[in-house]
Amino acid sequence: MTAEFKNEPLTDFSQPQNRKAFEAALDKVEGELGVEHPLILGGERVKVGRTFDSINPAKPSQSIGKFQSATTREAELAITAAERAFEIWKRESPARRADLLFRAAAILRERKHEFSARMVLEVGKSWAEADGDTAEAIDFLEFYGREALRYAAEQPLTRVPGEKNELRYIPLGVGLAVSPWNFPLAIMAGMTTAAVVTGNTVILKPSSDAPAIAYRFVLALEEAGMPPGVVNFLTGSGGAIGDFLVESPRIRFVSFTGSKEVGLRVNEKSAQPRPGQIWIKRVVAEMGGKDFILVDETADVEAAAAGIVAAAFGYQGQKCSACSRAIVHRKVYETLLQKVVEKTRALTVGATTSAAVNVGPVINAGAEKKILQYIETGKQEGRLVAGGEKAPGEGFFIQPTVFADVKPDSRIAREEIFGPVLAILPTSSFEEGVKMANQSEYGLTGSLYSRDRKRLEQAREELHVGNLYLNRKCTGALVGVHPFGGFNMSGTDSKAGGRDYLLLFLQAKSISEAV
Ligand code: NAD
Repeated sequence: MTAEFKNEPLTDFSQPQNRKAFEAALDKVEGELGVEHPLILGGERVKVGRTFDSINPAKPSQSIGKFQSATTREAELAITAAERAFEIWKRESPARRADLLFRAAAILRERKHEFSARMVLEVGKSWAEADGDTAEAIDFLEFYGREALRYAAEQPLTRVPGEKNELRYIPLGVGLAVSPWNFPLAIMAGMTTAAVVTGNTVILKPSSDAPAIAYRFVLALEEAGMPPGVVNFLTGSGGAIGDFLVESPRIRFVSFTGSKEVGLRVNEKSAQPRPGQIWIKRVVAEMGGKDFILVDETADVEAAAAGIVAAAFGYQGQKCSACSRAIVHRKVYETLLQKVVEKTRALTVGATTSAAVNVGPVINAGAEKKILQYIETGKQEGRLVAGGEKAPGEGFFIQPTVFADVKPDSRIAREEIFGPVLAILPTSSFEEGVKMANQSEYGLTGSLYSRDRKRLEQAREELHVGNLYLNRKCTGALVGVHPFGGFNMSGTDSKAGGRDYLLLFLQAKSISEAV
């Protein structure tokens, strides 16, 4: 019997031995930087003669590693390798497939700090954020392993005389997993292994801003016993190979997490059948957010301010669940604003190799430019009360920035900025606040802080987001506890880390025998 699923505990960095162990992991990973990484296609190491560098956003002159710029030729080879592996892997017992995930979880647990340290260097996560990401990856492996066993068990059906009936869940085929850089281990690992544990084989195309973490994860899968071709590691630009893979008639499903723009493109291209294609491609697309925290006049203002600052600036605001709109009742507006500004100013910005830093760099030069442009827009649209500039240092550092008195129809209140920028919007009533909160093309996460029981109940009905939180911040969803996914332009509401998720990678076969 497999033990009941439990979330992986987080590391307590106030303990000196944990800090020391993490520093040692950082040293070890720093010693491994800059080397060239091949593609992994059908277990073979493949080089293509053209590479790109993944860089440290806190120190752009430092290469994390060189990665292959795959072309459509390697993309085709990846599909062939995945097709070959599928013929064997689909017949593998669910128990063995689940065991692969459990063994990979054990490897990640054993080398937890190394995986987290690599995230500090490759994507600028703070120690705590990186540790949370690794813990979430372990959770996905443990949770989806158990879920695969549940779907493999006998499924309840209504009995009729004269027939023996069963319902089996079978895999779809060869899929494409396209992952983002912001949860470079957890989301990448979750998307990939959910597909694999259900008997599919995949081409994993990680973000070009975080390929090193994905590469190490694929090595961990190999070490755990994954047969060649089950996960094929393919790096390269989304533009160069993304469309080609998405459009291929040999791809059965696409699991995508990233921006709205790319997600919609993937959805559109997948819908178009190509010559030789005999199925409707299935698309799982998890996209952006413009998440809110609503604070009414009865709320615990101190708790709300702490929740807003943590959700707005954790990982530099680069979470799909990050709070980018605080909607605050006028009666508590000034008090809350003051607290938010105080807490924001207390944050330290810099390279997250230091344990004391809360706010690291944004991911790359393009993101830095875009966020700074939004800050300029914000200066026209609201009252700047904290930050508002680039922060010193070689890296892509931006001061945590807060704009007050923002109007609901302004750009900084509507568009996903994906950086450390918070808009605060005043509201005159709870009802108006709910309306403002729902006034978005997105619908991913949201919170309400209130002491009014009636309003808390009303919020359950009326706040239209995939993940709603009451009297707590809108980030930090836990696998198994808060299945995650959004409404509207936030995506297909796949509910990653929930009991419906594996169904997205399965099809049900109903078998009836006369007896
Ligand atoms: P992105 O859309 O720029 O890239 C995502 C992935 O798509 C990358 O691997 C990229 O290389 C690839 N890609 C680019 N063009 C492609 C194409 N034409 N065909 C196929 N693939 C292509 O997003 P990002 O910057 O990596 O991530 C940030 C975005 O992701 C934000 O909008 C954030 O809200 C969203 N996100 C959503 C969730 C969620 O669960 N809803 C979780 C994390 C991130």
